[in-house]
Amino acid sequence: MAVTSLDRSARTYVAGHRGLVGGAVLRHLQQLGFGDLVTRSSSELDLRDPVAVEAFFAEQRPATVILAAAKVGGILANSTYPADFLSDNLRIQVNVLDAAARHGSTKLLFLGSSCIYPKFAPQPIREDSLLTGPLEPTNDAYAIAKIAGVLHVQALRRQYGLHYISAMPTNLYGPGDNFHPTGSHVLPALIRRFDEAARSGASSVTVWGTGAPRREFLHVDDLARACVHLLEHYDEPEPVNIGVGEDLSIREIAELVAEVVGFQGELEFDTSKPDGTPRKLLDVSKIKSFGWEPRITLRDGLKQTYRWYCEQLETGQLQRT
Ligand code: GDP
Repeated sequence: MAVTSLDRSARTYVAGHRGLVGGAVLRHLQQLGFGDLVTRSSSELDLRDPVAVEAFFAEQRPATVILAAAKVGGILANSTYPADFLSDNLRIQVNVLDAAARHGSTKLLFLGSSCIYPKFAPQPIREDSLLTGPLEPTNDAYAIAKIAGVLHVQALRRQYGLHYISAMPTNLYGPGDNFHPTGSHVLPALIRRFDEAARSGASSVTVWGTGAPRREFLHVDDLARACVHLLEHYDEPEPVNIGVGEDLSIREIAELVAEVVGFQGELEFDTSKPDGTPRKLLDVSKIKSFGWEPRITLRDGLKQTYRWYCEQLETGQLQRT
């Protein structure tokens, strides 16, 4: 595969820079010396608004676009607000992808999620499992929007010969995550709950579901490196999985978070909450064949994320429940 270095001086737009992924991508591009980075917060530019997005691209004409803007949430948020997850994500993607194509962006990376794959896809999940079976119902609306994005990228390549690509990260975590008690994903939710329990001296902590589902976790700084790596080494229509290639049960994850946070009480499982997909371990042989490897172990990444969380509490950026 040809290696085409990204031009560090070309205008590069990170859509969604206030989010977990976009924030990490922006930090990484700054470290690499990208000199013309463009960002807009959602209050400055509502990506669901086609007129505003068109005007932004007509004025800024970024050469490279990283599309990390999306409405995201954990299992409960996804199953409670499916209409918002479908509608917001479809509109964001259509607006950004079409405007990028119209206004001369030559490279674009669209970020999806491992939940686009069928609920019972063979594990580890290969990229060619896409559209081979029914989706997990707790996040099917979000998944359908992301699948449409993958197809949209492929269609733009076919119709206009554009070098746009898609990547599908596994479950992500790290500084900048959403720590909302019910709307967040499992790791930030557990960090928050265990931290509060450790500080209050509670004897037990509730973990949702049975504890049996298995999940894989990638630190968002590893993802940011993967994004730049793919933009420089990959130019094909098929999406590329980004993960670590190993998973743990939710029970094991909860035990690890308890250890990192210093909580010594009991775990209780609330089986009235959904388990979601039993397993979604990604096959990451494709991205590894292009020379990318994750560097941050889950234990180290969790310690660092917990430190970040505590700093946010101390500086008042986040509040306890
Ligand atoms: P998913 O990977 O799309 O299912 O997203 P989540 O990160 O929200 O959930 C992953 C798994 O962790 C599911 O089996 C949840 O039931 C389980 N889980 C356990 N405790 C929690 C919690 O406090 N919050 C969330 N979001 N999930 C939890």
